[in-house]
Amino acid sequence: MAASDPPPTHATPEHCVSCGRLTSECPGCGRELDPPHFCATCGTRLAVLVKPTGWRGRCKVHGEVAASDR
Ligand SMILES: [Zn+2]
Ligand SMILES: [Zn+2]
Repeated sequence: MAASDPPPTHATPEHCVSCGRLTSECPGCGRELDPPHFCATCGTRLAVLVKPTGWRGRCKVHGEVAASDR
């Protein structure tokens, strides 16, 4: 049995995007329409750019991790 395979990095989010805590501690405290404030992967605070057409969340580690353009 191969037990050395690392889990995929784009699996389920590990951090709440609204407060940055682990999803085991906070399954999501923000509303669905609110822009995220933290990277779901690493929990780093995002630089959120809000535009009339939507928003974009950029993590300094992972780049753009969330966008809502309509
Ligand atoms: Zn939360
Ligand atoms: Zn990140």
